[in-house]
Amino acid sequence: MAVPPPKRQPPRPTARRPASEQPEAGSFLSSPLFWVCFAFLGLIAAYLLQQRLAEMNQRPTAVVEKTPEIAKPPVVIETPKVEPPPVVVVTPPPVVVEPPKPEPAKPIPVVEEELPKFNRFYKTVSTRLVPAHLGDPKAPLKKEVKAGHELRASPNAPLHVASGDAAKRATLRKTVEDYWAKIDPDRCLPHPDADAFPGKVLEPADRVITTVSIPVNRSRWHSTGTYAAPGERITFRIPAGDADLGLVARIGCHNDDITSDFAIKREDWHRFPVITNTIALNKRVVELANPFGGPIYIEMPGNDKNGKSRDQIRIEIVGAVEAPNFTLGKTTRSEWENSRLAPAPWAEMICDKMVISVPSKHIRELSYADATELMKTWTETVEACDWLAAWKDRRSAERIVSDAEISIGWMHSGYPIKCYLDSAKDSVDVQKLRKEGNWGFFHELGHNHQSSLWTYAGYTEVTCNLFALYCMEKIAGKKLGDGHGEDMAAMAAEMALDPKAHGASAFHLLSQYYHPIKQFGWISLQQTFAELNGRKDIKKADGMVKKNLGIAGREVEKQQEALDKEKHQLDLKIKAAVREKKEADKAAAEARLAEIFKEEKKIKEALGALSKHDSDERKKDIFVRTWSQEAGANLGPYFANFGWPYTDSMKTMLTPLKPWMPANFPPTKPGTKPAKSTLFGSKNEAMAGKDEAQGDNQSTNAQ
Ligand SMILES: [Zn+2]
Repeated sequence: MAVPPPKRQPPRPTARRPASEQPEAGSFLSSPLFWVCFAFLGLIAAYLLQQRLAEMNQRPTAVVEKTPEIAKPPVVIETPKVEPPPVVVVTPPPVVVEPPKPEPAKPIPVVEEELPKFNRFYKTVSTRLVPAHLGDPKAPLKKEVKAGHELRASPNAPLHVASGDAAKRATLRKTVEDYWAKIDPDRCLPHPDADAFPGKVLEPADRVITTVSIPVNRSRWHSTGTYAAPGERITFRIPAGDADLGLVARIGCHNDDITSDFAIKREDWHRFPVITNTIALNKRVVELANPFGGPIYIEMPGNDKNGKSRDQIRIEIVGAVEAPNFTLGKTTRSEWENSRLAPAPWAEMICDKMVISVPSKHIRELSYADATELMKTWTETVEACDWLAAWKDRRSAERIVSDAEISIGWMHSGYPIKCYLDSAKDSVDVQKLRKEGNWGFFHELGHNHQSSLWTYAGYTEVTCNLFALYCMEKIAGKKLGDGHGEDMAAMAAEMALDPKAHGASAFHLLSQYYHPIKQFGWISLQQTFAELNGRKDIKKADGMVKKNLGIAGREVEKQQEALDKEKHQLDLKIKAAVREKKEADKAAAEARLAEIFKEEKKIKEALGALSKHDSDERKKDIFVRTWSQEAGANLGPYFANFGWPYTDSMKTMLTPLKPWMPANFPPTKPGTKPAKSTLFGSKNEAMAGKDEAQGDNQSTNAQ
């Protein structure tokens, strides 16, 4: 039956549907039955949507109009909470040739592919729903908040700040501080760049009441599987008896401050400089809102008392949306298949020893088997590092967070380890981790395990790579030394021929460890670290910087203690001044702080270098003796090739051991094959050693 097409050719549907999927304008479309069905479905959809809207509180539909700066990029225009005008979605105008399956509650301006694809399949886990609470968009903004909203920086529209422009940085820092000081959970609104980063919640999403149980003996951040939508008020309820436990609620995992002095080389800021906030849980009910939104955590202080506790604290979190999260050994297959579709834009992959935070899009389609393998792999990785550093147990997990902007380096160590968004995918790609390893992540984990007992001046970017080499073997099955592409044997030869010429090259310094590890195994190095962790003499050598200066040293110590106290007081003063709007007090305190920094620098310059050298020589001496004992061979002459100490006392002690030197070592001819170092000068250079010389390296992790 040939039916002529309707006279008025319908416009192409707005959805991005390939032509091949368009239904043919055939007999069914022209039948009255079709339109009856369609209208009926439309009515059902309208009813469902109205129900939905009724549930969803009076969330403002018009944030766009209230914030003048919103008119720029399209991603910003779409607020996370805009509900579609019901009539448009559910009343099918006769001209629309859509398949007979209308999608009811789908907002019209679909910016993200994710929205229809995932969100509509998600089943809210909590049975207790609450309305969302956002500030009144019609209320006038405080001037500090307005200034913060006008400070725009996002991945697609970075803010340029020339590194030499100290005045601009200082102004920005003040704007940022004042903005956060004025955030009020009852009146908070989303920042105009929140949608661009950290991202928007897939609406419609239920706001829920979640109860989490947190073991007191595990310190630092506890993931909760919940997410604060930008600007929305979150309420935390704790048992009255736990108000003095020192708990802190946190929104946001991106805790790198781009205004910090470490970030001086950052010229393009791809996000607002500070996007996380915290509040002490020191009473029964506490509220917090974050204009950028973010994953919600409970922080547990890691003191001895808590460490011995067997208690669990139950905390109720009200008003958040659910976030994709996988916990190794806990999450079941069906839970994961639902959870990975949860509406939050950030997801967490969790095991006892590691938590990976990534944009949810990277795990939306991750299978249960891969999620399990991934977190087993991270468990193994952290266990490998813990083993090599001879750590017995840990009270918290490591964390890796990808970010639109970090303060320093291409990645840097600390809690969490920070990397850029382009590393996010790799952090959850188990096949790639197993096949290629990941030097960057392993290197930063190495920093977190590094100890000053065996890390000398100039070795910060060296001893961390012992962990990277070890993980490359254990996790990715590489041969010793193959993890980064350098020829370790050739570099060791070059180093022995001219230690001075290569003393600043992180990989040449690393190559010194290659032959003994190859000959005596990682176990000999691991046992050396284990032995050194408990040795008083090396701890003493480590502390020599001050001590071996005698009376002058003790004076310095006292002076430094006094300065530390004063710094702490000044910090408190500045915070109080910000709260009470006492500009003059704040300026005075800041001026004094600046003076203190200068004084500290002078102290270090005058006294530091001298004793540092002595203590390093002593530490190397103890290290070589200990490793020799563990290896059952005299490593003294080998390390002496690189200019390490080999004193008479060492000779006496080590000579009874088996003599040892690698084959053809040290090289006799100056024409040794040059080592290739092709990876320098790229991103890898940052990983190799120049990344976070001043970053927040923390080797005090977890122990
Ligand atoms: Zn590094």
